[in-house]
Amino acid sequence: MSKITTKYNDIVCIGIEEKLLRSDVPTILYSYSFFKNDDTSHIFSPGSDIQTYLGQVIDKYNLHPYMSFSTEWISAKWDESRHLWVLELKNTKTGEKIIHECRVLYSAVGLLTYAKFPEISGLDTFKGRLIHTYEWPEDVDVADKDVVIIGNGCSATQVIPAILPETKSITQFFRSAQYFYPVRVEPYKGFIKWGLEHLPGFAFLIRLALFHILEAFWRGFIKDKKGDKIRETGTAVCMRFMKRTAPEKYHSILTPDYPLGCKANPITEVVPEGVKAGDKIYPADIIIAATGYDTKRACYTDYTVQGRGGLTLQDYWDKIGVPTAYNTTLVPGFPNFFILFGPSSVNGHTSAIIAIENTINYSMKLIQPVISGKSQEVDVKNEAAEAYYKELDKGNEKIVVGGCDSFYIVNGRNRGVYPWSQFHFWRRSAFPTWKDLSYTYSTQYLDKARMRRRVYVILVLVGIAGALTMRNGITFIDYDYIPDLSEYDRTVNEPTSFPRNLKSKDVSYS
Ligand SMILES: Cc1cc2nc3c(=O)[nH]c(=O)nc-3n(C[C@H](O)[C@H](O)[C@H](O)COP(=O)(O)OP(=O)(O)OC[C@H]3O[C@@H](n4cnc5c(N)ncnc54)[C@H](O)[C@@H]3O)c2cc1C
Repeated sequence: MSKITTKYNDIVCIGIEEKLLRSDVPTILYSYSFFKNDDTSHIFSPGSDIQTYLGQVIDKYNLHPYMSFSTEWISAKWDESRHLWVLELKNTKTGEKIIHECRVLYSAVGLLTYAKFPEISGLDTFKGRLIHTYEWPEDVDVADKDVVIIGNGCSATQVIPAILPETKSITQFFRSAQYFYPVRVEPYKGFIKWGLEHLPGFAFLIRLALFHILEAFWRGFIKDKKGDKIRETGTAVCMRFMKRTAPEKYHSILTPDYPLGCKANPITEVVPEGVKAGDKIYPADIIIAATGYDTKRACYTDYTVQGRGGLTLQDYWDKIGVPTAYNTTLVPGFPNFFILFGPSSVNGHTSAIIAIENTINYSMKLIQPVISGKSQEVDVKNEAAEAYYKELDKGNEKIVVGGCDSFYIVNGRNRGVYPWSQFHFWRRSAFPTWKDLSYTYSTQYLDKARMRRRVYVILVLVGIAGALTMRNGITFIDYDYIPDLSEYDRTVNEPTSFPRNLKSKDVSYS
């Protein structure tokens, strides 16, 4: 039986931040290729609209009966004799433990599912409200409050303008300056809007065009002259945007290549009444930690996955030194197990949904023999996985990835960002390297296959015998026995009637 579980009690997209944040990828791309997102009211949809879209996908494909909410995945153990995964799940409301078995297991727990709080002394002494952008409480009220926000990544950058008009004050603390790229957040207009709403296939064309435009941005990640040029242009655009929109007094600390900007305003301590930076105390009713995610914990999590021979995923990754997976999804020794949006799958320039869809398409190809009962297991060969990790390391050397504390980096190695383009990932996923995989076959299937082979061999033998007989038959014709017709009278009488349109003059006789 298929089962989709999630620990939340509803469909939740991109944490809980959807009320404030929007996708930084155009909605047309931040959607599945097989189900168009009809929302033309935004080029970049807010999280709540993406959630509505995901609900539509679930309704369209009638997925609700397969979904269990408030169900936390605790562990998975591979049963080698039965070629099955045995899962332990927990109902988060009642605490009840549930055992579920499945042939194929997908881990879709996400990379950005554990909030990371800043390590600042005194955080626990704060007497106001401390919240992380990941879990934005329903009842949070910022009206007329002194708010301190920590961080200046994409979460803080979207939260601040959303809450600013209501607050009494906002003070932002950050470690290093960021680049801000100007994006046009406005509804579709004119012909594009009309085309999206009325022209069949138009959305697909726009999707295709946007995909290629964003793929062109990928070039800017590569460490070469062309990449340098793209980054230079990007930097100039960001700096012009910042200078045009930010008050001049902030320009120095907002300029990323200004080292003092990184250290201008560090929080030294959190005190009960607010935040202390240097000698000054900034009063706060609410502290918002917009400080990102613990990707290491997302891999080395509270759930355990035990593969062949009792080896856990965490043990395997400890041995390798970093969480990693073949083609971002397969781990050797963990048969019929796929990680969606797994290690090294993030493409900073394009849609996570496209990467996830590519992984699903890839897995569907691989599990076909398992689903049809031909095979019991599909696994990646150890040597193929290791060769792939080396390829990843080489790929990583050629790209520029975020700073030393970027969430992409685990144990000093990039295992967040896919070091090639999304087109590259599509190609790898659409055309699997079959020789890297190993399948084990069921005795039933092998018996049938043996029987089929015997039948083929018999048929081929019969065919060969038939051909030989025919050949021999022709060989045995003794042409000497062909009667000599020359002595016969070869004159033929002209027929009395001819088919229509055929005149007697058209026919020659010999
Ligand atoms: C603020 C923010 C903005 C982003 N913006 C973009 C963007 O604009 N474009 C983009 O491409 N990507 C963006 N991302 C990346 C984002 O992570 C992906 O787009 C997408 O949400 C990943 O989907 P997912 O299904 O892999 O994981 P998630 O959406 O994180 O879903 C994980 C699911 O697993 C469940 N879960 C976790 N652990 C368990 C467990 N033990 N048992 C049961 N259920 C569990 C969770 O409840 C959740 O439902 C953003 C991320 C963040 C945090």
